[in-house]
Amino acid sequence: MNSDTGSQGSKKPLRVYHGGQSAYAPATQNKPTRASHTGAPTTGPKIKYPDPMRPQKAQSPTPTSQPMQRPTPRTQASLPNSSIKHVKRPLGTGDEIEDDEVIELHDTMHTEQAQPKAKSKSNKRYSMPRSRPAVGSASATRPGTQKEIPEVTGDTWRIIPLGGVEEIGMNMTVIENKDDIFVIDAGFRFKEEATPGVDYILPNTKYLEERKHKIRALFITHGHLDHIGALPYIIEKLGMPPVYTRNLTSLMLKKRQAEFPNIPPLNFVLIQGNEKLIIGNTKVQFYGVTHSIPDSMGIIIDTPYGWITTPGDFKLDHKDGIPTEEEETNYQLFDGKNVLLLLGESTNVENPGFSTPESVVHENLDEIVRTMTGRMIMGMFASHAFRIAKVIEACEKYGKKVVIEGRSMKNNVDIMIQAGVLKVQKGTIISSQEMAHHAPDKIVVLATGAQGDEFAALMRMATKQHKYVILSERDTVLLSSSIIPGNEKAVQKIKDNIARLGARIIHYRTSDVFIHATGHANRGEIEWLHKKLRPKFFMPMHGPHYFLKMHAELAYNLGMPKENVIVPDDCSILEIQDGGTKFVKLPVKAPDNVVMVDGFTVGDIQDVVLRDRQILAEDGIFVVVAMMNAHNGRLIKSPDIISRGSVYLRESQELLREIRTLVRTTIEQAAYQMGPHSIDYIKDITSDTLGKFIFQETAKRPIIIPVVLLV
Ligand SMILES: [Zn+2]
Ligand SMILES: [Zn+2]
Repeated sequence: MNSDTGSQGSKKPLRVYHGGQSAYAPATQNKPTRASHTGAPTTGPKIKYPDPMRPQKAQSPTPTSQPMQRPTPRTQASLPNSSIKHVKRPLGTGDEIEDDEVIELHDTMHTEQAQPKAKSKSNKRYSMPRSRPAVGSASATRPGTQKEIPEVTGDTWRIIPLGGVEEIGMNMTVIENKDDIFVIDAGFRFKEEATPGVDYILPNTKYLEERKHKIRALFITHGHLDHIGALPYIIEKLGMPPVYTRNLTSLMLKKRQAEFPNIPPLNFVLIQGNEKLIIGNTKVQFYGVTHSIPDSMGIIIDTPYGWITTPGDFKLDHKDGIPTEEEETNYQLFDGKNVLLLLGESTNVENPGFSTPESVVHENLDEIVRTMTGRMIMGMFASHAFRIAKVIEACEKYGKKVVIEGRSMKNNVDIMIQAGVLKVQKGTIISSQEMAHHAPDKIVVLATGAQGDEFAALMRMATKQHKYVILSERDTVLLSSSIIPGNEKAVQKIKDNIARLGARIIHYRTSDVFIHATGHANRGEIEWLHKKLRPKFFMPMHGPHYFLKMHAELAYNLGMPKENVIVPDDCSILEIQDGGTKFVKLPVKAPDNVVMVDGFTVGDIQDVVLRDRQILAEDGIFVVVAMMNAHNGRLIKSPDIISRGSVYLRESQELLREIRTLVRTTIEQAAYQMGPHSIDYIKDITSDTLGKFIFQETAKRPIIIPVVLLV
């Protein structure tokens, strides 16, 4: 499939018992392109930044001769680049998440919309300080005030969640003793409102980069983007450690890696079953878990004081609360074992009871395929491998043909066939062109875009932009996914469009049959896990702070002493000390500025860039161009005013006239006082005065760029 020379080809995967660096490790590391990116070129026009605290709209216009009564806008000089106070950035706001589907959605989004195609060479990485509510010690360390982090010595085991404990996504956890470092997962999360123009947010790996000689392995629990998304961006900086994962995940990683051609091939070690390995000086074991994607695995690090383990993302494919036989077997290895620390996911901890088993969804989909009377279009996440496999299986059973629409869906089906988790008879999958040769009730179209993603297959069908699939009243569209919070409008829009074309819609919200199930454990299953493993210490993870607290509460209720549970923040440093008897959080943190990726550019983002984007989005921009006689300081003609996103000048002729007059008098007065050569001063005072005036007239604080040309 690609030029990877890893262990994929051989039936027996390469065993590595001594860990260490990959043979592919390049000689030079850590040379991200650091573009110097500031808001204003030093010789260019001055840019004015508005005040973050937007006061209420000014009551009534007042004569411009008293501008000092107005709130004073900030000047650039008063706002150094390092100031980030007013970037509104609610990191880790869990309230926007109520289901697990972020990841699956993102899978679709990623592959169909936001693909940074072969752009790695020029990818831009941005970092900015976190801003989080000041809770307890979370705010104790700020950039620049970081205390020295002591190295791990003696019998201590250190655990650092670099991400995933203040948010859904960006999962990455470090486990370290005096000799070795193991890293579990390398996920990212998607942009948020406060980071316009940014595609992904990555965990900060500085702690690891500084200790990369100790990194023995990167374990990847499964192929969702909140566990693999950051990998191409960070793997080189970690010294290309070997990647331990199962087959399907490795194929997904390779597929993704193909879009980053400058990164050396990954060195995979494929894990099967409940395999045991010795990596570095440490015994490691793996176990299978149920999740919405095949080949998901849990990890056990065997310390002298007991096991440190995480199942990663998991649920139970139970029957009335009883796990399947396979699951019982998978977890059997914990029987009678001493579990020192559990790192447990909290995604669905709010949901009571046990989750709907995927098998129920499968039965319903089977029935729907059996009884369908017209063409059926099924929108679902491309990563819902089991569900896709089930639909294809049902189609074969009932003599229907399957059309796959959407690049990520096609990719994933290819990968699943390659991995052997999906077996398809020849002739079952047909192209959309061939659809016309079959009766409509023999056609099932599997499509991406159930979240209303603008460019995904389903939206193209719903807006008549699809070349072959035009929806009509003879079609049924089934949306087999929940709505990710934030996507409500987009989903509503796609449903409206589908309804307009007359097609019938079955959505999981409106349907009384289960056509969708979460991939994550509900409270009931989480409790089951705690009872099964009976860990001594516990760290909740995968979720915003509130979810983690709920999960901690659950552990207390099961009898765990409070001092044995730590709810961390991203980059908290936890340690198991004194021969496995003490579980503590250090007063220092690993570097915790999150890192941002802006698809087409790579380098360091400065806060000022994000701030500009926010201001541009909210208040627009004003450009003033004035031509000045270099000798007498008079303007040669009335200044040109360009406004975007702030005031529609054509409808504000009066305002425009006032602005022109104001700019002219301001510039000429300043030139009269200072002499026309003091252009910087003239520009400063122009943007100051104009900023105050525009604010007083419009209650907006646009970016103001004065350009003064001397002729
Ligand atoms: Zn997952
Ligand atoms: Zn996950």
